[in-house]
Amino acid sequence: LKGKNEFINSKVMRNTNKLKVLELIRTEPGITRNLISSVSELDISTVSKIISDLMDRKAVIEKGLVYSRLGRHSKKLFLNKDFSNFLILDLGVNSSVLSVGYFDTSFDTVEEFETHRDPEEFFEILNQKIKSNPFLESAANNFTIIGVPGMVNSTHQKILFAPNLKWNDIDVSKLLPLFHIYLENDSNLAVIAEQFENTDRRSKPSNFLYIFMREGIGGGIITNGTLYKGAFNSAGEIGHMKISDENECFCGRKGCWETFVSISRVANEYEKPSGKKLDGKTSYERFRNICKLYEVNDIHAKKVFKKFSEKFATGITNLVNILSPESVIIGGEGVFIPDEIIDVVRDKVKGSVLWVNNGIEIVKSSLNQTNVTVKGAAITASRLISKKVLSE
Ligand SMILES: [Zn+2]
Repeated sequence: LKGKNEFINSKVMRNTNKLKVLELIRTEPGITRNLISSVSELDISTVSKIISDLMDRKAVIEKGLVYSRLGRHSKKLFLNKDFSNFLILDLGVNSSVLSVGYFDTSFDTVEEFETHRDPEEFFEILNQKIKSNPFLESAANNFTIIGVPGMVNSTHQKILFAPNLKWNDIDVSKLLPLFHIYLENDSNLAVIAEQFENTDRRSKPSNFLYIFMREGIGGGIITNGTLYKGAFNSAGEIGHMKISDENECFCGRKGCWETFVSISRVANEYEKPSGKKLDGKTSYERFRNICKLYEVNDIHAKKVFKKFSEKFATGITNLVNILSPESVIIGGEGVFIPDEIIDVVRDKVKGSVLWVNNGIEIVKSSLNQTNVTVKGAAITASRLISKKVLSE
């Protein structure tokens, strides 16, 4: 029996090492065997063996050389883009985006379409789109990953609750007859992209909170370098943190943080008292316009953002006292908030958190926010496919 366990353990070890090597190539395309060996602390012969196995499987390719002064050139390693492709759906409250992703975490966006508010209709429309496009269909037949503006169950097949869509308990695996579907909360995907793209944040076991502002407000929590999901798979629903007894929320409760600081709330706060209409069809466009109005000293925009900064700082203060992260990163539409307001919020938070937390860094995300969920989905799918392939 002991012998059998040892056999199983060594297979698990080998796979763990292979996943480690794949992850290094994923985050550092062009890395060499020597560098993998020194970063991973695996000896060079183990690394070489792993690489040759991954190349046999066509998961890794060599392309180009790194030249050294000693004349010993090393080959650059990359994930093979064509090893596997997959479908990515970024399910938004107003519109959704379909892309095809690849094993090397790159992706091509195919189309954006309006999100039908009826879930059955929505997935029927999606089905038609997939069936009528061979490019989408072949990707979908491999793997489909969906970013959801809400909570999903632990098997990643059901939408439990998406407040802004008013969708409850949707079994996506039944509505979308595809082989392999994986759902993930959109803020979790965004924080994965934030960590992946930022060398500082991924190279150490960092602790940070990502505030993802789209129609609602989501949160992604990274503790000691890993995503925190909680016992019921729904950690990070920071938009539904109760800060008052006023304001009805889409979640059916009262006083949620996002009823005070969501982008549509900010736009409405401007339009009602001023009697002026903001330009733009979507809440995104209206929010970006009020940010611009602030920059040109529009008096109503100034007032709205003064109130916003107070409520925004209250929520962040609570979160910082609970999580004690090194950074709070504001992403999504939040990157359009005027810098002056971010400065005000930072000062307010630093002045009101428990003093032990006042080294907190509060910054806007430096990533391009247009594709942040799609990028996070591509990274997640590439990791899941690696695990699946190595277990075969
Ligand atoms: Zn709520």
